[in-house]
Amino acid sequence: MTHQHGTHLAEHLELSLVIPVFNEAATIDLFIARIIDVFENEALIGLELVFVNDGSTDTTLELLLERQKSDSRIRIVDLSRNFGKEAALTAGLQSASGQVVVPIDVDLQDPPEVILQMIARWREGYEVVLGHRVSRNNDSWAKQVSANWFYRLHNKISDQPLPENVGDFRLMDRCVIDALQTLPESRRFMKGLFAWVGFRTTYVDYERPERVAGETKFNGWRLWNFALEGITSFSTEPLRIWTYLGLFVSLVSFSFAIFIVLRTLISGIDLPGYASLMVAVTFLGGLQLIGIGVLGEYLGRTYIESKRRPVFLVRRVYNAKD
Ligand code: UDP
Ligand code: MG
Repeated sequence: MTHQHGTHLAEHLELSLVIPVFNEAATIDLFIARIIDVFENEALIGLELVFVNDGSTDTTLELLLERQKSDSRIRIVDLSRNFGKEAALTAGLQSASGQVVVPIDVDLQDPPEVILQMIARWREGYEVVLGHRVSRNNDSWAKQVSANWFYRLHNKISDQPLPENVGDFRLMDRCVIDALQTLPESRRFMKGLFAWVGFRTTYVDYERPERVAGETKFNGWRLWNFALEGITSFSTEPLRIWTYLGLFVSLVSFSFAIFIVLRTLISGIDLPGYASLMVAVTFLGGLQLIGIGVLGEYLGRTYIESKRRPVFLVRRVYNAKD
């Protein structure tokens, strides 16, 4: 298939939505109703709904199976346990067969109407259309501030900047999905991988509403680890900084040593100095521990990556005809 600028005008189009779900019994019906609402008059769009059940412990799977009976567009990829949203997305993208694919949250925080605008941009020849949040007013203050800092830091030190205020909600052409499949890493920070593959990219703005029902699965600690994951996946700057820090500290202490020797030669030995000694020892001790911690972080990642374990395990795939 050829992809040239402006070649997708008003053609029939196969669209796959990839929807990771983890304990979402409260939101699934609302989501499906909205999807039907948005797409029922879109004769040119052939829809596929790939739900990835990420080890839900509530009735999510039963509910999905029930809905599948009356809607043959639904496919369910049932993972063997909770692998996290990144792995669930990976599973869903692998299973999606559409010509364009859109990962979308089930809680309607990614409004399905926006997909129609994305498709319009795709028809203009773009291969990636990002959903760009115009405001984060519905996020807590702490989440806004921490997200802001994360992006600033991440984009300063990593090779491939992440677009700000953009989540996983985006349209991707088949060629992008195929490119993503070729990335071999098992620790998958999807936002970073999405950005890393590149391709002709644009965005559409949208207001991010609050979750329709249920609760967020990402608490503070999980977000913190997610941020660490992002930074260590795409930058080795935190490792390299220690070389420079070490050089700097050595330089300072060398100057200080010369100063002490000269002072001792000129005005003799004076014993007090316990406080400065203690400060230097504890400060450098702390610094070294942080350095080892950073080393450990990367070593741990390398270790886990070297096991070459699969990103997720599938218990069963339910196709509508089964
Ligand atoms: N999710 C998942 N596995 C997880 C956590 C979340 O598949 O371990 C799904 C969840 O069901 C939802 C989406 O990821 O469809 C986004 O989750 P949530 O709304 O809790 O995150 P937030 O919007 O608060 O960042
Ligand atoms: Mg949400």
